[in-house]
Amino acid sequence: MAVKYRNLIDGEMIETAATMEVVNPANEEVIGLVPACGADELDRAVAAARRAFKSWKNVPIDERRAVINKMADAVKDNFDELFRLLTAEQGKPHAQAQMEIGAGPAIMKAQAALNLDEVINEDSETRLSRTRRVPVGVVAGIVPWNFPVLMAVQKVAPALLTGCTIVLKPSPFTPLTTLRIAELWKDIAPPGVVNVITGEDSLGPLMTSHPDIDKITFTGSTATGKKIMEGASKDLKRITLELGGNDASIVLPDADVSKVAEQLFWSSFSNAGQICVAAKRVYIHEDIYDELSAAIAEYAKTVVVGDGAQQGTGVGPIQNKKQFERVCELVQDAKDNGYKFLVGGDVDPSGTGYFVPITILDNPPEDARIVAEEQFGPVMPLMKFSTTEEVIQRANASDYGLAGAVWTGNPEKGVEVAEQLETGTVWVNEYLHLSPLAPFGGHKQSGFGAEYGVEGLKEFTYTQVITVKKDALV
Ligand code: NAD
Repeated sequence: MAVKYRNLIDGEMIETAATMEVVNPANEEVIGLVPACGADELDRAVAAARRAFKSWKNVPIDERRAVINKMADAVKDNFDELFRLLTAEQGKPHAQAQMEIGAGPAIMKAQAALNLDEVINEDSETRLSRTRRVPVGVVAGIVPWNFPVLMAVQKVAPALLTGCTIVLKPSPFTPLTTLRIAELWKDIAPPGVVNVITGEDSLGPLMTSHPDIDKITFTGSTATGKKIMEGASKDLKRITLELGGNDASIVLPDADVSKVAEQLFWSSFSNAGQICVAAKRVYIHEDIYDELSAAIAEYAKTVVVGDGAQQGTGVGPIQNKKQFERVCELVQDAKDNGYKFLVGGDVDPSGTGYFVPITILDNPPEDARIVAEEQFGPVMPLMKFSTTEEVIQRANASDYGLAGAVWTGNPEKGVEVAEQLETGTVWVNEYLHLSPLAPFGGHKQSGFGAEYGVEGLKEFTYTQVITVKKDALV
């Protein structure tokens, strides 16, 4: 039975007459009804955030930190309920939902422990000049459906720490866990400091163009990111954009096949491949290509695709129908072009649930759609290369620049290659490790600005330089 969820505006849980259905991607059953907000509800949320901003920005930072820590604890204390709900709406297997719900509060706490210290520019006999950081104001947080909780909390914590207030909009596909968390937060943060509203995609542009929103922090596709940048240009809203990627992994000839195969597999297939930094193009040196591709294929056969709520499932469904159809189309295109499959390749868009079988391609050409486009599904193209120069050139030949990885028995050589890659994050001999203390952001069309770390905090502030002439006119 579909449960009715409410939005958080000005410290109250509210309903709207119009609602939207939320579907479990494993069985296509409607599991939740959420408010379908329009301009009126957005105005109310923004007005509440504006009112709250006046006092919240003056709350001492340690008190703001304490509020964020309490909000993190509320998520932690409701771990069981939240991870099950996350699997039901997003599709990811329980173990991966547990990782997301576990990481959320840990990231909030790590972000809450950061500081933006003042900088002294000049302290001379005649003058004291210092740079301080002041909050930008009311922030809109717009979140995608692949990591609905992580992407939400990692925007809320730095916004609140810096003294901003926030209106958060989850994806229409995955709002339920976030709304349940909003309910848990209702009495922790003062009214209006955190507001969570849901609506169709059309609510996003209303936020981008809202005259009383000062900043947009967005995670989602590059196409939507460009629209946001355009919308925000009208009144020069500040923006942070975390966008798509077509991330390359490079396996050098000295990599240990027995150690790398399983890790490479999960670097592509965790969260059914729906990770912005998932390995979406895997380049393997020709000397070890046959051995490693066989080992990955062998491992893939041990992984179960199914409902994330079932024990033993390793790869869940695609989160929504539109994305499911897109991944099916890319796989079908590869088939129609006669590319070779090591594993999978038979998609059935007519079945119940948005399941795509684990699919691994054997050396498709560089210009195959499945290589050149962000697949965002359980698909892994393996490609052969001969020289390091050649593979660096191929890895960089993309408009995206989010992340990449190098696998090698020689970490120094790995770093040499990593430094040649045009991406915001590069891992050597590991994958998907992101630290809330290190800036995460994309080069080229993968983003604008950064989240996490002090760099991420700065994005919620303006600089203000205060200069005092010491031999004053008194
Ligand atoms: P999307 O761009 O379709 O939607 C993201 C959010 O934007 C949703 O809340 C949606 O309702 C909203 N939205 C849609 N149209 C809008 C508009 N015109 N103006 C304002 N908001 C609008 O993205 P998605 O399909 O939900 O997510 C998948 C994409 O997100 C992938 O490309 C993936 O790589 C990317 N992603 C990037 C990161 C990162 O950190 N770089 C992390 C996760 C996902």
